[in-house]
Amino acid sequence: MSERLENYANLIVKAGVNIQPGQLLVINAPIECAGFARLLCAKAFDAGAGDVFVFWKDELLRKLRLERAGIGYLEDVPRWQREARLHYVREKGACVISLAADDPDLLQGIDPHKAAAEHKALAAALKPYRHVMMSNQARWVVASVPTVGWAKKVFPGMSDADAVEALWQAIYHACRAEGDDPIAAWTRHIARMQARLERMNAYHFSALHYTSANGTDITVGLADDHLWCGGVEVDQHRIPFSANIPTEEIFTAPHKDRVDGIVKSTKPLLYNGILIEELSLTFNNGRVVDYAARANAETLGHLLETDDGSRYLGEIALVPYDSPISNTGILFYNTLFDENAACHFALGEAYPTTIGGEDRREEALIHKGLNTSLSHEDFMIGAADTAIDGITTSGERIAVFRQGNFVF
Ligand code: ZN
Ligand code: ZN
Repeated sequence: MSERLENYANLIVKAGVNIQPGQLLVINAPIECAGFARLLCAKAFDAGAGDVFVFWKDELLRKLRLERAGIGYLEDVPRWQREARLHYVREKGACVISLAADDPDLLQGIDPHKAAAEHKALAAALKPYRHVMMSNQARWVVASVPTVGWAKKVFPGMSDADAVEALWQAIYHACRAEGDDPIAAWTRHIARMQARLERMNAYHFSALHYTSANGTDITVGLADDHLWCGGVEVDQHRIPFSANIPTEEIFTAPHKDRVDGIVKSTKPLLYNGILIEELSLTFNNGRVVDYAARANAETLGHLLETDDGSRYLGEIALVPYDSPISNTGILFYNTLFDENAACHFALGEAYPTTIGGEDRREEALIHKGLNTSLSHEDFMIGAADTAIDGITTSGERIAVFRQGNFVF
């Protein structure tokens, strides 16, 4: 086994979930990534984990069910699905590693109505589990491992083996895990992100105004007491972790009712196995009042119709156009990578951690502008020419982004 692969696994276990002595670890892994999941198990035990449990996921089986099972069966999510997860993260204090490696083309031809129904039923069943994760009660990380299906989509002209190897190289590069000491490189990178985040927090902007030659012209009001987060976060016991490897974003909560204008996507969005291309959303008082897409607009409609909150924004994130992922010029067809190559917004659920203040009750956070929804879906809106002005509470405009990058 290569040293680089072991270093990468260590980065996920240590800088990612930051496993503690005696702690339980849960891994969500596609069956194609079984070898890497076992390596993560070994590294977790090396780092002191008490035990490891793996939830295996089989995409081909999911496709078969979507083809052959009726909607009533697909919507019937047994209670143990939720209870098993809550057992680990809530009762046993486990941390969670999820490996994202979907084949972007696998669900082509599947009835989008069925896929949406299954997705929504699962999201509803797992809502309490998701809340534990999104409010950082448990430490979690999303990372990736190449699969043949995914790698061939990214590098279509290559043999299976060459495509997988090329995707490994791209992943190592994106995660700054090429050198001898990825954890040290990661720590330096996080410190740079932290400085920008602190600066954004010091401005206390009331809104950001985005413009681009592609037609984006949108003002996003920020939630009262919003906090910029990113790079490294802490769990309920103040233990640090990085929720995404790689990560380039600093993010915060928009005020759900204060978004006005038009935004255009700059990368395709893989939603629920279906690729939505060139989407355009028009907002009025925070609500999406019009939408369009060059491909799979129907699926975009399903996303927006998940519930009332899925028509409102729950996250905005700043990502420099000039970043390792963006500079590769590779379209990954995987949100973990594509969202970290471009400024993005998310429709749906906001992170409670992006709103500060003493009163942490949900109604207090909602009053400050927090959005709630069964969905949370990132889509990429950053372009090479993106300009962003911060607007202060007194109406003054301060440059934040010019030509796709931070001015500071
Ligand atoms: Zn984000
Ligand atoms: Zn997000």
